[in-house]
Amino acid sequence: MDEKFDCIIVGAGVAGLTAAMILARNNMKFLLIEKGEFPGSKNVSGGVIWGEDLSRLVPEYWHETDGGWDRYINHRRLTFIDEQSSFSIDFKSDHFNTPPYAGIVVLRSKFDRWLAGKVEEAIAESDFAMDSFIATNILVEEILMEKDKAVGIRTGDEKFYADSIILAEGVNNLLTRQAGLQNDYVPADHILTGVKEIIRYDQNVLEDRFQLNGLSGMSNEYVGFATRGVEGGGFLYTNRDTISIGLVLGLKDLRKKGLKPHDILSDFKAHPVIKDTIRGGEVVEYSAHVVSSGDKRIMPKKLYKDGLLVCGEAANLLMNAGKAIQGMDYAMRSGILAAESAIKARDAGDFSSHIMKGYQDALNNSYVMQDINNFQDAVHLLHNPVMYQKMPNLINHFGRNFFTIRNEPTKKAHAMFRESVSEHASWMDLIKIGIKGARSL
Ligand SMILES: Cc1cc2nc3c(=O)[nH]c(=O)nc-3n(C[C@H](O)[C@H](O)[C@H](O)COP(=O)(O)OP(=O)(O)OC[C@H]3O[C@@H](n4cnc5c(N)ncnc54)[C@H](O)[C@@H]3O)c2cc1C
Repeated sequence: MDEKFDCIIVGAGVAGLTAAMILARNNMKFLLIEKGEFPGSKNVSGGVIWGEDLSRLVPEYWHETDGGWDRYINHRRLTFIDEQSSFSIDFKSDHFNTPPYAGIVVLRSKFDRWLAGKVEEAIAESDFAMDSFIATNILVEEILMEKDKAVGIRTGDEKFYADSIILAEGVNNLLTRQAGLQNDYVPADHILTGVKEIIRYDQNVLEDRFQLNGLSGMSNEYVGFATRGVEGGGFLYTNRDTISIGLVLGLKDLRKKGLKPHDILSDFKAHPVIKDTIRGGEVVEYSAHVVSSGDKRIMPKKLYKDGLLVCGEAANLLMNAGKAIQGMDYAMRSGILAAESAIKARDAGDFSSHIMKGYQDALNNSYVMQDINNFQDAVHLLHNPVMYQKMPNLINHFGRNFFTIRNEPTKKAHAMFRESVSEHASWMDLIKIGIKGARSL
């Protein structure tokens, strides 16, 4: 295979597969290389794909009820927990029942494989049915450069050449660093580790337990004692006949507190509120993966250079501002934009930074960078101990008092609230969080 490709994509995760789909539809001859045994074999997410971009890739995917997705989200819950209690904000709406869905739950080993199948179909319909490939079980070790322009990749002794390279290698972005677009050293305080279990139930039990109807599903995020005081949070999502339950935990804080992710996950599952929610299931899978904190300061300074584009979490495109983890939808949109730039470069016959820069401009104008920029304060707020330790304790203290009926005169809610503040935080904490929260959200 010594001929040259229009484009080489590294990584068949959400970003790489999305880019591949756009390239196939636009008659680009490309090679998509994945180190895993099959697309999705190495990938982990909670996970919900938020937004509607999937319907741009696979129109009316919702008709494929046996396809890559598990359930659509129509029920959302944010839960603050302390050692014994939980206090939730709960929102369920029939508005979410109509496609295109606002969020779908996926299991990556199934979803990525399914999406790869759709890319294969698009390749088969393109002019390069015999010349574009998804190649698995291959580790890309080096980006080949000539006069500071990316011209190809090396894997073992083999070299493959292309006019443009799209790096979609995910959060461990070794090639992005090799290309000089990101510092070699990314401090541990900007990286979290995610641990997750998949627990299986009889489907009827699952649907009754979580009040699911047909393919509706729920997402529940947790803040507070879920992480035993470690920076981060928890999640629970309903799949077809399983749930995904897990935590994302700050690496630096874990090290400082000497705690292990699987011990914290066991404790989380044993929490009185969680224990009742998950009882009776069988753990069928355990996985772990690092995930970016979403702090913009560790983004590569530039996402392009001559012949090269970086998308997805390799570009640190991820955000959790309290409402949800958004990584897969950012991977999808940036994959679309990167592929569109590679196509523009082919049409112009110019693969220099001059054209590649259009990708960064398009990304900056998209909701991805607008949200990352606008909600940075919220990202930092969520990583503030007041937010993930004191506030959940305060809220639950208040909840316990408020919902306890004694056969004695009842205090007014504001008096109870004052008590909770003095027990678990300070007015100064609340003022700071209030001001920052109001500004950031
Ligand atoms: C516990 C957890 C929960 C999460 N929950 C959510 C959620 O609910 N919603 C959400 O939107 N996001 C969630 N995320 C984040 C989301 O998973 C990522 O942001 C998303 O997967 C990024 O997609 P990507 O395509 O950029 O990278 P990845 O999905 O990581 O794909 C990168 C691919 O590149 C391959 N690769 C890497 N290097 C090479 C190489 N040198 N050669 C060949 N192949 C290579 C990898 O094997 C992989 O297949 C979660 C993450 C974790 C860890």
